[in-house]
Amino acid sequence: MNLLIMGPPGAGKGTQAERMVKEMQITHISTGDMFRAAIANGTEMGMKAKEYMDKGALVPDEVVIGMVKDRLQEDDCKEGFLLDGFPRTVEQAVALDETLKDLNINLDAVINIEVPLDKLMARLTGRRVCKSCGASYHVIFNPPAEEGKCNSCGGELYQRDDDNEQSVGTRLNAYMEKTQPLIDYYKEKGILKPINGDQEIDKVLEEVLAAVK
Ligand code: ADP
Ligand code: ADP
Ligand code: ZN
Repeated sequence: MNLLIMGPPGAGKGTQAERMVKEMQITHISTGDMFRAAIANGTEMGMKAKEYMDKGALVPDEVVIGMVKDRLQEDDCKEGFLLDGFPRTVEQAVALDETLKDLNINLDAVINIEVPLDKLMARLTGRRVCKSCGASYHVIFNPPAEEGKCNSCGGELYQRDDDNEQSVGTRLNAYMEKTQPLIDYYKEKGILKPINGDQEIDKVLEEVLAAVK
């Protein structure tokens, strides 16, 4: 199954994606995680992306599109994949359609996690992420069993540089301006699955799994 998960920053895409790929045995492709790995490795692309990410701005389309195109051609995508955080602009969505067509791949469903925008600031400023596996936690809404430590891999939890009020504000604006139009784009294709993301994590997962069955 080839899926895409969408929603505003903080909607719970990463949280659900982590659980979905385990359940469905498909490959998780998170463009945010890929950029953070490139930054950690000190690559040129990572350094370029970091300038945009720290401010909360979107990385230019051509950089992201090239990266995803290459990624989709790797072997582990053949068993199915879940794209998380891409596409974020109409240009990216069009490029994705072209790439999938070239590779003879169909997109089966687009999961859209809906959360009232006024709840996102608290989710993002309280987010803590595992340095080793990228798992997402929250100091209040989803704390790890042991403070500062990842439940699944024991890795160290940290706060992302862009999870501060100023960057979050910019990211929410970028979402409303550039990403929200994609909802109609996929609705028109008839593959959009709206999910209520404003409920407990396990309940959201249940809804998601039912929607893609
Ligand atoms: P995204 O990938 O969409 O930006 P995350 O999955 O990283 O979002 O979640 C953002 C923050 O909100 C994290 O701190 C996460 O633990 C928390 N969170 C995720 N889902 C829920 C939920 N259903 N209810 C409350 N908090 C949640
Ligand atoms: P969030 O979990 O808050 O939704 P991500 O981890 O998906 O954030 O992305 C973090 C940052 O990486 C974004 O704010 C943006 O700067 C950059 N980024 C990730 N994916 C894309 C994309 N598809 N297009 C442009 N920029 C992106
Ligand atoms: Zn971990």
